[in-house]
Amino acid sequence: MTTLPPAAATQLALAERVERLGTETVFAVSEEATALAAQGQRVYPFHLGDLNIPTPPNIVEAALRALRAGKTTYCPNAGIPELREALAEDVSRTHGVNYAAANVAVQPGGKPVIGKFLLALMNRGDEVLYPNPGFPIYESLIRFFGGQAVPYTYVEGPNGFVLDLEGLASAITQKTRLLILNDLHNPTGAECSAAELEQIAELVRQHNLYVLCDEAYFDVRYSGSSRSLVSLPGMAERCVILYTFSKKYAMTGWRLGAAIGPREVIDVIVRLNVNIESCSTHFIQWAGVEALRGDQSGARQIIEVLRKRRDVAAAILDSTPGVRCSVPNTTFYLYPNVTEALHGLGSTDYEDFRRAILKQTGVSMCTRLHFGPALEGEQQYYLRFAYSGLHTQEIEEGLGRLKEFLERG
Ligand code: PLP
Repeated sequence: MTTLPPAAATQLALAERVERLGTETVFAVSEEATALAAQGQRVYPFHLGDLNIPTPPNIVEAALRALRAGKTTYCPNAGIPELREALAEDVSRTHGVNYAAANVAVQPGGKPVIGKFLLALMNRGDEVLYPNPGFPIYESLIRFFGGQAVPYTYVEGPNGFVLDLEGLASAITQKTRLLILNDLHNPTGAECSAAELEQIAELVRQHNLYVLCDEAYFDVRYSGSSRSLVSLPGMAERCVILYTFSKKYAMTGWRLGAAIGPREVIDVIVRLNVNIESCSTHFIQWAGVEALRGDQSGARQIIEVLRKRRDVAAAILDSTPGVRCSVPNTTFYLYPNVTEALHGLGSTDYEDFRRAILKQTGVSMCTRLHFGPALEGEQQYYLRFAYSGLHTQEIEEGLGRLKEFLERG
């Protein structure tokens, strides 16, 4: 058997663009937590936006039925017609826009929509506005595909976080072509008001922008209903929606989502499907049809479970010395301000603080820096806790330990 020589010896020249490829640094936190758990320490995994809640049984059954019925072949590149139609119907109803099946390109998850949107619409050197803090893949792929990543931010107000609209408007230049809007927002849980969406729509019209509406958490909310930028006049023609089954139906590992938008862009995205993965897994798409058209009680139960976890987690964090935690109505994340706690421990940097907490309490979470580099002038410190992957009792135990640790100072 041949042994591979060490990488350095082969002088392998990787493509130059690889230098610009980022990652989700949260996976490194995951590895660290797993290594600690392997040494026998109790670890509380608040770092990853995954759910420890089972997928609703009617969806699982639909997948099994499809498997047994032989839905194991290739299928149309754009997705099976039944799923495209179900998605078009569902999103038309919730967004007040008339989408047809032709406006839908099924994807293996929501994440692929980000890269395909950029490949379809971004030219080299184009400026793309993206949220920072925000999902790290935006910046990574904008840069990887040769664009200029231009951050805008969210600011902490008396009732949680709000998009810094002034900052967003002032970041627009002649070269700005695209906007990535993640409403409802990971990591802050912020949600744009109707008035803010109006102002964003105005900027989009005025500057002739195209928008990726990352709506991964559109249905992860505890009261009221979500609004989308696409509902505003003139926006459906300019927006591509990132839709995912991952969060709403606890289907993160199934890998099923869709790009929904104007026909011209969707046609290109379907051609990218042909070039990249041919199609999304055939039998999984039938499970998606059941998720959308079948009994919705599973999705409602998921929200109720998450609500209890949110309330427990937020109450403990907000009563922890040096920590200020608002209770967002959306997503399954908390993004408390920990500036005082960090200084109280004598830490001056995020990693030092995160590692001390992990080592002393087993609580593993992300810091603000897992959602992009700190912006100029930023002086407050934040952590992100995902409460979707732990049972209530584990949340109480883990955050209880964190509270005791910070009380000791
Ligand atoms: N967008 C945001 C803001 C996310 O937080 C995530 C996952 O955490 C995704 C997109 C992608 O999710 P998926 O690929 O599982 O649909």
